[in-house]
Amino acid sequence: MTTTKTADVEGTLEQIYALAGAGADIVRCTCNESAAAEGLAQIVPRSPVPIVADIHFHVEMALAALEAGVHGLRLNPGNLRKPEEIKLVAREAKDRGVPIRIGVNAGSLHPDVYERFGGATPEALVESARVELAYFEEVGFDDVKISVKASSVATMIAAYRLASATFDYPLHLGVTEAGPLPGGLLKGTAGIATLLAEGIGDTLRYSLTANPVEEAWAGRQLLEVLGLRERTGLDLIACPSCGRAEVDVIKVATEAQIALTALDIPIQVAVMGCVVNGPGEARHADLGIAAGKRRGHLFIRGQIIRVVPEDEMVDALVEEAQKIAKEGIEARLAARDASAEAEAAADRAELLDAKGADANNTTQVIDRIRRREQQ
Ligand code: SF4
Repeated sequence: MTTTKTADVEGTLEQIYALAGAGADIVRCTCNESAAAEGLAQIVPRSPVPIVADIHFHVEMALAALEAGVHGLRLNPGNLRKPEEIKLVAREAKDRGVPIRIGVNAGSLHPDVYERFGGATPEALVESARVELAYFEEVGFDDVKISVKASSVATMIAAYRLASATFDYPLHLGVTEAGPLPGGLLKGTAGIATLLAEGIGDTLRYSLTANPVEEAWAGRQLLEVLGLRERTGLDLIACPSCGRAEVDVIKVATEAQIALTALDIPIQVAVMGCVVNGPGEARHADLGIAAGKRRGHLFIRGQIIRVVPEDEMVDALVEEAQKIAKEGIEARLAARDASAEAEAAADRAELLDAKGADANNTTQVIDRIRRREQQ
């Protein structure tokens, strides 16, 4: 959702383009005043993605947004309460073929429903949507999507499960007012991912107190990691590091993330802290590097293709990622350095010798530990 004043046409379009670039398929803009509706009339024809107008309190803003040509409306049943007005909007939307999202929010639940259920319970959220839906059905309008958002993750999950069992309409997922990063991201992911994994949900929004581009980025990433959307960019995996690490994994992974993200290549890259476990544990990655003896073992799908100096690890990843994008995995495997595997094996053997339990006079070590315990 944009955070600009919708009347600021150029500023809003700039943000819409940034959101679309980060992965948003649909963008919502507020339509809270006449100037916003006039702004929408100019924004909609120039937008790269469908525009949904967000409507609270004012039925006339819904009608103005429809006139402006928006692709969808979001109505909040908690503050648009007059049945005749709701039906009027539904009729207009039906005539124009524009879908409406019934956007229930626990924080602005219809007061009657709130009282009847003793609070913003999952049942109350679903009931609010059901009441609104009944008005729509009275005028034969069924181009509907429903959301039952709450800032409590547990409430939101329960509400969507109930909505999924109650309605035969698409559901739009979200944890509302999730807050700033990183907590907001965690709450949004906990709620949305749980439901998506159960097969519930058709669209989603992260509600973060942050640049809205972060919301679009998070949504896209979530869908990609769940395998619900094809990866369009980098998936960097990195080991958490441990006492075996031969390099500052956090530094190398951060530098690699920045450099590889800029390439905009759909590739999975691994940064592993040691050559003993790294290539094997990340053998599924398209490309990876594992550190050992001041050198990096560059590998493709677990096979060592080159050994590079430690300070060239990130550059080597970038260079190889570009070549993979151009030539493909098989061609790059065929072009691997013939001596790389032997060099890597020697490094691994040396490290295992130095750090492995078997080659470290284990009996003497155990004796020393026991003697200390007895003192
Ligand atoms: S890859 Fe190596 S350094 Fe990284 S966590 Fe595993 S054992 Fe530790």
